Amino acid sequence: MRGRELRGELDAFLAEAEQDLVAFRRDIHMHPELAFAEYRTTQRIAERLTAAGLTPSVLPRGTGLICDVGNGDGPTVALRADIDALPLQDEKDAPYRSTVAGACHACGHDVHTTILLGTSLFLAQQAAAGLLPGRVRLIFQPAEELPGGALEVMAHGGISGVDRIFGLHCDPRVDVGQVGLRSGPITSACDRIVVRVAGPGGHTARPHLTADLVFALAKILTELPAALSRRVDPRSSLSLVWGRVEAGSAANAIPDDGIAEGTVRCLDETAWHAAPDLIKSLLESVASAYGIEATLDYTRGVPPVVNDEVSVEMLAEAAERALGAGAVVPTQQSLGGEDFAWYLESLPGAFARLGTRSPDGVTYDIHQGTFDVDEKAISMGVRMMATTALTALWEVGPLDSITNAMA
Ligand SMILES: [Zn+2]
Ligand SMILES: [Zn+2]
Repeated sequence: MRGRELRGELDAFLAEAEQDLVAFRRDIHMHPELAFAEYRTTQRIAERLTAAGLTPSVLPRGTGLICDVGNGDGPTVALRADIDALPLQDEKDAPYRSTVAGACHACGHDVHTTILLGTSLFLAQQAAAGLLPGRVRLIFQPAEELPGGALEVMAHGGISGVDRIFGLHCDPRVDVGQVGLRSGPITSACDRIVVRVAGPGGHTARPHLTADLVFALAKILTELPAALSRRVDPRSSLSLVWGRVEAGSAANAIPDDGIAEGTVRCLDETAWHAAPDLIKSLLESVASAYGIEATLDYTRGVPPVVNDEVSVEMLAEAAERALGAGAVVPTQQSLGGEDFAWYLESLPGAFARLGTRSPDGVTYDIHQGTFDVDEKAISMGVRMMATTALTALWEVGPLDSITNAMA
């Protein structure tokens, strides 16, 4: 019952607000700011929230902010948008193209920001009318692309007291009006490794008196990926691929050091957690067989985003309510990374892919200078996010607050 009313309330809100939200997105798009430098963007969001009677709290670095709507005793649902741009050139021929050389909202975070702003303004109205059966935590997160912004939010209490969290990302391969959903992992992990080897070095005439470092390094390069593929579940698709290798300077001299660098990609969270120790022990066993020393520098990227099944059901229910029957489409796990994963290591929640392609229009790709969206996705996103928050609050909230909301 409330679901049907909600749709009418969103229609009324968007009839007033949609043009303004499109203008807000274009302003942010024209003034992109890179990770942890989103000062202007943060100020613009804060001004709009304050004008709506909310009390945003800017994170200590001055980029990104957190804001609560509603102060009931019910559950707390968090909605997250990322606000940073990418260090690449805007190649579009649009009146709202980037005015900053070498910076561009090519991942659609301007759209995510605008959707969460619109959702905030609508939820503030709902709260003022006594229709919010709980609290909604709005997270405008800096520095997703670095990544690291999610950890910054969490370090400052951004998800304390939160029961469930939702986020979305533009998907240029899905038509506007549709939402791609999937339970379980939806993005992947990507880490970097650097292997350094060292030995005594010497003349190539006497490898038996020294340690044949180049030969040993070559063994590491081939044995490590091969052994890994035999030591982890193949379904986790843990793969180590080398991108750079260097050792030696002369044909007849065994060098005393060498280096190899590569990436570790992984579709599975359990395998991702086990990867550093496993790679280290395999490296040590190969190196010791050839009498050289090897060290591993392992730099963590982000874990895979693993969607909680109950939260995905809430998203699906909200999408049908907000966008109509048939709005939900299946989506694949991508090999890209997304730092929303950090929240889902601590909380149940889910991440959706929001269609941004014009039906029969161009299929863009994210992280390209030509990337753009069908701006109807903004109102679709507001409908989706607002309905998701309310659906989650209705379903986990105490019965009396739901009854009050419906009265
Ligand atoms: Zn991106
Ligand atoms: Zn992104």
